[in-house]
Amino acid sequence: MTGGCLCGTVRYRLASAPFDAGWCHCRTCQLNSGAPAMAFASVRDGDWVAESGSDSIRTVQSSNFGHRGFCAKCGTPLYMKVDHQPETVDFSVATLDDPNAIAPEFHIFWSDRIAWFEESQPLPRHDKFRPDTRGLKGTEPPA
Ligand SMILES: [Zn+2]
Ligand SMILES: [Zn+2]
Repeated sequence: MTGGCLCGTVRYRLASAPFDAGWCHCRTCQLNSGAPAMAFASVRDGDWVAESGSDSIRTVQSSNFGHRGFCAKCGTPLYMKVDHQPETVDFSVATLDDPNAIAPEFHIFWSDRIAWFEESQPLPRHDKFRPDTRGLKGTEPPA
C-alpha cells in the first residue's frame, strides 16, 4: 500500500499489512487534525517507509507518551509513535492512496468525542484506550 500528503512532497509505502485500525476521538487528535476524530492503523516499526520527502517530515511532541510526524510543507498528519508500543507505528488511514483498503474496527477515547460525530456502522466504543491495548496494563494513557 502507498500513500502521501496533501502537497505530494511526502510519499510513503507500507512494507507489511496494516492491522488494528480504529478511530481515535481524543482531544489531541481533534486538534492535530482539525477534524472530529482520526482513523489510525498500525504497522511494525520501520514498515512505514518514506519514499520521498523524508527531509520535509517534522515531528511534534503531542503528549507525554508520544510524538507525531507531519509534512512541514502542507501540514498533513502522517503518523504517530507512542512510547508504550515501540514495536509499531500508527499512521493516518486517510493518507493512503486507497483509504478504503482498511476500515476502522473500534473507537477509543469515545468519552472525548464531539457530540455530532455520527458513525455509519456502530463499532465497539472505549472511553479511553482499549482494555487489551498493547504495552498498557489498563485503559488509562501512560502517566
Ligand atoms: Zn505535504
Ligand atoms: Zn487520539
